[in-house]
Formats: sequence, structure tokens, C-alpha cells
Amino acid sequence: MSKVHELNFLKEKIEDLKKQGVYRKLPVLETPNEAEVLLNGKKVINLSSNNYLGFANHPRLKKAAIEAVEKYGAGSGAVRTIIGNLSLHEELEEILAKFKREEAAFVYQSGFNCNAGTIQAVTEEGDIIISDELNHASIIDGARLSKAARAIYKHSDMDSLEAVLKDARKKYRNILIITDGVFSMDGDIAKLPEIVELAEKYDAMTYVDDAHGSGVLGESGRGTVDHFGLHGRVDFTIGTLSKAIGVIGGYVAGSKTMYEWLSHRARPVLFSTSLPPAAVGAIIEAIKMLMETTEYTDRLWENARYWKERIGSLGFNTGNSETPITPVIIGDEAKTMEFSRKLLENGVFVSGIVFPTVPRGTGRVRCMVTAAHTKDQLDRAAEVFEKVGKEMNILK
Ligand SMILES: *Cc1c(COP(=O)(O)O)cnc(C)c1O
Repeated sequence: MSKVHELNFLKEKIEDLKKQGVYRKLPVLETPNEAEVLLNGKKVINLSSNNYLGFANHPRLKKAAIEAVEKYGAGSGAVRTIIGNLSLHEELEEILAKFKREEAAFVYQSGFNCNAGTIQAVTEEGDIIISDELNHASIIDGARLSKAARAIYKHSDMDSLEAVLKDARKKYRNILIITDGVFSMDGDIAKLPEIVELAEKYDAMTYVDDAHGSGVLGESGRGTVDHFGLHGRVDFTIGTLSKAIGVIGGYVAGSKTMYEWLSHRARPVLFSTSLPPAAVGAIIEAIKMLMETTEYTDRLWENARYWKERIGSLGFNTGNSETPITPVIIGDEAKTMEFSRKLLENGVFVSGIVFPTVPRGTGRVRCMVTAAHTKDQLDRAAEVFEKVGKEMNILK
């Protein structure tokens, strides 16, 4: 047998990870994803999930999932373009379009898939994709699958974007500007009104990946486009159904024309089985809940403000966040990871994020506050931050 099957080339790379101190095992969650969980056998306060509204284990979503299973089964049995397009999928797209205040919404199996499928379907050779330097990995991968040229502008820097646009306008047919709606590592919001204005000036299309804005910003979580009142001026609005909505999936909201084209050319939908009934049933219920009341997003923002105030007044540096994503910036990489480890030892789980995910010297723990946290849990977590911060001389 050939030596290649021993995967020695991978074993060497794994040894390298260990030498660099970045090798790790996956943490194991033994309970539903809630504000307090059992992680690796230890009870901890969870400040690391994307479950912004506490929907992942919500009784109404679970009930809707069970009902959908009873009515439609465990799986959809095919890709949507053959016989996997259930009436439930159609219902989901209709309610999503209404919720997003757009003509149409086209659903994928994940937010990642949505970027992998949409970008390549709406661009081709002779076009250019212009991307914020801090855009999400799935946008970068999605753009790589396109035959269009690519360019990058400095993070949220409108002069940099305009310089790229000016140059691109002369050389390419269609221009697609892509930005995250909310940037996931810092919690800052894209300068969407300025981006849209520049797009209109240079006759470019706009594409907003609102994975961290949907269910968070705008009226009852309608997203960043709604937050800025830019309906009808953004061509493609991507949302995820896996974060605030609490289940799984992604979608792009926009025009009927967009919908028609994607239903013929979105490769992850053409070549991969559609979302299972349980997921779709639960998502529809989640959207209904957001359309009934703003109480979920109100709670989320109240908790986020409370946490930012507590942590800020202790003297931690929370950066430029404008959303519930609250980075606590430590700086040094090793110190950041040690801070995260000590928080966990003291009963608070908040993941450390360091280079290459963020620039060198800006290591941070990223606090994800949700609507489901109680004030008591946030207070207890803040006390742990204070204790560990003092022990490590991060706080004076
Ligand atoms: C999380 C995320 C995605 C991926 O969404 P999933 O539904 O988890 O696949 C895509 N884009 C951005 C900006 C994200 O933060």
C-alpha cells in the first residue's frame, strides 16, 4: 500500500499547529444552546453564541419543527429544482419577502451556501467584484468561484471605495460592491447610505451580507437595509437563518428578477438537497414571532446596552462596536487566549479571537450578548471579568 494513505503530510501540518500553540479540540456542548450551558462537563455562562434572540431552543420553534416533521417528514428527498421544493419552502420565501419588505426572497441551505451560490450566479467574466477588506470568509470564497475580476477597499473607507470604483468603471461592464452589514469581529455597522450613494454615482450594484444584522438591526430585526431605510436601493440582501433566527439556512432578498435567475443558476440549490421540513417549519415560526412583536429585539438591545455599560465602566476597551457584538480588546495574542481560558475556569465561556482572524496585536474576547440572558447572569459574568481582569493586570 502506498505511503500516501498514512496522511503523513497532514500529520506534519498538525504537528506544526501544536508547535504554534494553536492546536485545539472542539468544545462539546451537552445542553441546548442557551444563556447557561453545560460545556465539556462544566456549567458556564455562554457569551459566545450567535443565538441573539434565544430562538435556538424556543418552545414555539420546537413545536413548529415537530408539526412540520409530522406533516412533511424528516427530509425533503431531493434538490428543489427536481422534487424537493415543498409548499413549506414556498411559504417560507413568501413570509421572508414580506418580512424583509422586498419583492422576493430566495432560500439556500446556509448563509455560507448563499454567498457561494449567489455571487458567481450574478457576475461573469468582464465584471468586477469590489469587497470590503474585512468581509466574511464565505464572501471571499464566493467571489473566488466567480469568473469576475476582484478588488478590495480599505475597511469602511469611502475614499478607498471611490478610488477603486473610479478605476473599475472604465474597465468593466458590471460592478458588484459587497459588504458585510455588521462586521462580525468588531460589531461595527457598514456605512451603507454612503456605499449606496457611491454605487448609484458609478452605476454599480450593491450586495449586503447581513448575517449579523438580520434579527438584530432594523424594525424587529429586519436588518441593516431597514435600519437605514434603504429598501429598493440595495440589489442583493443576504441574511442567515442560522444566527438570530436560531435554526439553519440563508437567503437573498431583492427583486423578482433576481429570484427567477437564481432559481435557474444557484448551484448550491441546483445540486444539493433542500432544507429539511423541521428547519423550515421552525424558521417560519421565528419570522412570525418577529412580525408579531418587537419584544425579542428590544430585549436583545437592552441586554447589549447593559453589558456594554457594565464592561466599559470596569475599564475594558470595547472598541467601535455599535451592535450586541461586544469585543473586549486585550491586544497580545497569548494574553488574549489566557484571558479567555481563565474566564472559562471561572465559569464564563467567551471565545478568544486572534491573528489571523483579526489583525496582529488586536486580540480580543468577543462577547455575544443575547435576549435570553438575565441581568443576574450578566452581572455574574461581569464580576468574573473584573476578577480575572485584575488578576491579569488588564484592569488597574
Ligand atoms: C455566519 C456568517 C455567514 C454564514 O452563515 P451560516 O448560515 O452560518 O452558514 C455568512 N456571512 C457572514 C457575514 C456571517 O457572519
